[in-house]
Amino acid sequence: MEQTLSIIKPDAVAKNVVGKILDRFESAGLRIAATKKIQLSKADAQAFYAVHNQRPFFNDLVEFMISGPVVVSVLEGENAMAKNRELMGATNPQEAEPGTIRADFADSIDANAVHGSDSLENAKIEIDFFFAQRELC
Ligand code: GDP
Repeated sequence: MEQTLSIIKPDAVAKNVVGKILDRFESAGLRIAATKKIQLSKADAQAFYAVHNQRPFFNDLVEFMISGPVVVSVLEGENAMAKNRELMGATNPQEAEPGTIRADFADSIDANAVHGSDSLENAKIEIDFFFAQRELC
């Protein structure tokens, strides 16, 4: 059974659509193995997005990710990583397929509602970043 990491970003948490987004995952057959609402520190956000630290949007991305609480979850199921990416839609909500989370809940490429691991290798790293083994059940 595959596991992947999801983050409901500060824009979607502020819009009060956490339940609606979690429902998308469950309705698509993914199980929530763990979930929690947390406020990231600047160091957390910089470490989590370290892979992007040379990109021009890095500082904006970090500031956005600490602008309010996020909801981090571990989603579990068959093809969980790819299935979550499909449910999320394209990074830029203007390019996201109708019916995807980003098309329905995101406003811009910065404030794009959700994060999802983009490979199984990254999923493991990202899950370990946020959750202890005993939280996954
Ligand atoms: P994702 O896997 O679809 O989230 O996309 P990436 O891993 O490529 O980028 C990580 C995050 O950085 C995205 O979700 C956006 O919030 C942000 N981002 C990516 N590209 C851009 C960009 O060109 N401009 C800005 N402002 N933010 C971006």
